[in-house]
Amino acid sequence: MVKENSLPPAYRRIVAKFGTKLLTGGTSHLNQEVMASLVGQIAGLQRQGAEMLIVTSGAIAAGRYKLGLSKKVKGIPHKQVCSAVGQSRLMNMYEQLFGQHGITVAQALLTKGDLADRAGYLNARNTLLALLELGVVGIINENDVVAVDEIREAKFGDNDNLSAMVANLVDADLLLLLTDIGGLHTADPHKDPAARLIAEVDRIDAEIERIAGGSASNLGTGGMTTKIEAARLATSSGVTVIIANGREPDVILRAAAGEAVGTRFHPATTRRESRERWMLSGLSTRGKLVIDSGAAIALKKQKRSLLAAGIRNVQGDFERGEIVHIHDIEGVHLGCGITNYSSGDLQTIKGMHSNEIAARLGYDYGPEVVHRNNLVVL
Ligand code: GLU
Repeated sequence: MVKENSLPPAYRRIVAKFGTKLLTGGTSHLNQEVMASLVGQIAGLQRQGAEMLIVTSGAIAAGRYKLGLSKKVKGIPHKQVCSAVGQSRLMNMYEQLFGQHGITVAQALLTKGDLADRAGYLNARNTLLALLELGVVGIINENDVVAVDEIREAKFGDNDNLSAMVANLVDADLLLLLTDIGGLHTADPHKDPAARLIAEVDRIDAEIERIAGGSASNLGTGGMTTKIEAARLATSSGVTVIIANGREPDVILRAAAGEAVGTRFHPATTRRESRERWMLSGLSTRGKLVIDSGAAIALKKQKRSLLAAGIRNVQGDFERGEIVHIHDIEGVHLGCGITNYSSGDLQTIKGMHSNEIAARLGYDYGPEVVHRNNLVVL
């Protein structure tokens, strides 16, 4: 039985990453008991009001087991075949286990290439946020079948980095990297009994990197090195990261309640600053929307989305998914956001009521031109 704290979780939106060794319990197949405990804790947190997402490994291991293949067979195509077979088995297990708690799950398979593309990034983000709103637990893995090693840029390479990207994508409060080691230690605890747990990391510096890469088993996919890389990525966007042992009793519940478990990496900035920096960096800003005073109040005071009705003027040439500046009619810079419509579409629908969009364009991407979740107001 999973213990539940009566207090609400200290973190509201949580991404939990489960590594293969954790899910298999060190065996060659998925361990139902371990997975039931992890799922039970996620379900418990959701009942307490937390928004939960899972980044899971284990597809390759599950497929390899089903096909009766040896771990000695190496190579990317082999892994892709195993993953294709194992992914559905993995999802089936999650579906059954979450079903016992009355929770619906969704599968999302992502590649780096999908998210490098702005529209892909936006679609993934909107889908994951919509799942959270519906109380559905999104279960994410890399799309191994298309993420080929040869195209290095297109591959996350490991689910640690994927989970950091997902935490950024949904503006998570906490990224929980669960493994078979109780956190970052001064040496490899499997080999050195004198190894000490480092409970708190304020800043990932050269010393932390040296410690993380200190043992060969720490290098490569799933080792401490990729976890530190992931922690760097997530903390620099304002996400707290915890590396902990997923086999410890109630570890997810305890971490979410703010208890000291494993190694906690403090965010390098506040979430807001980092989002503002990313959006306001101007690197990908393509155009400008001038909005009327009613829309300006809706954005600034009521934290609402920007609708077509409030748009007076569209400047520049941009596609759906790109970042645009937003100004009021006095020329004051109000902020920026990711647009759901291209400049061409906006020239047609500016000033229009949302329910007229589909008739005018022949399609629509929803009533929001810039959804409040994709908006940074100065
Ligand atoms: N996508 C792989 C799998 O599901 C795991 C990759 C990783 O653990 O980093 O088996």
